[in-house]
Amino acid sequence: METRHSQIRLYVDAPLSQGRDVALSRDQAHYLGTVMRKPVGTKIAVFNGRDGCYLAELTEINRKTAIITCLSLQETQWSSPDLWLLFAPVKKARLDFMAQKATELGCSVIWPVQTDYCQVKAIKEDKLEANAIEAAEQTERLDIPDIKPFTKLDALLSDWPEDRILIFCDERLAGDHNHNPARILSEIGHQKAAVLVGPEGGFSMTEKQKIDALSQSPGLSLGPRILRADTAALSVLTLYQALCGDWIDNAQS
Ligand code: SAM
Repeated sequence: METRHSQIRLYVDAPLSQGRDVALSRDQAHYLGTVMRKPVGTKIAVFNGRDGCYLAELTEINRKTAIITCLSLQETQWSSPDLWLLFAPVKKARLDFMAQKATELGCSVIWPVQTDYCQVKAIKEDKLEANAIEAAEQTERLDIPDIKPFTKLDALLSDWPEDRILIFCDERLAGDHNHNPARILSEIGHQKAAVLVGPEGGFSMTEKQKIDALSQSPGLSLGPRILRADTAALSVLTLYQALCGDWIDNAQS
């Protein structure tokens, strides 16, 4: 017996409505037909980030194509909290990890930033997006994070939106109890927020001065030990959701 959580969920970039046929991608046809060996008549869930989640039936399948027909609205659209993750990319394997965990932890924007000490000079945004979509399907979100292009932190800071807090994970504050997460994050409430995590080499003094010059950029300590960049991202997103995000008041908009 298929349960709601065992149901296959697929993201489609196409309008969804009752009775509408949707052509799946070649990869999705391969996954359903060849990998999962699903026959015509199989029920799956589909979402597109705008129209909610539909129960759909597989009406055509072959090696390269598949068609589904939307049967009924299973869940009305809700969006993840307005939370941005800005991170300096680290080695590939951890980059995929970062995209998956940021999606599971409800980020609306995933923004790779080039910092002074960032070792990575280019990234594959399409790979980042593919990991985010797969994670969104698994984590039962109804939207996918917006993957921004690899951008110089400097450029972002000089045009930072006034109404968004930048929570700065500053390794120099490691162990500084005045900047502990409970204290810093509980003051944020429902304000628009972004978290910033640096690369293996941390942040330069110039970067720290530019960040400090923003109107709302509280420095955050992630405890007395120096965490790897991917551990730091995972930690700050978890703390955010638990102390002021949708783990406490389910602030789905
Ligand atoms: N200098 C260290 C290094 O070279 O590995 C620091 C970099 S740390 C691995 C990567 C990023 O994780 C930091 O820039 C910071 O954003 C975050 N981070 C790690 N440990 C932290 C801590 N205890 N408090 C605040 N941020 C931390």
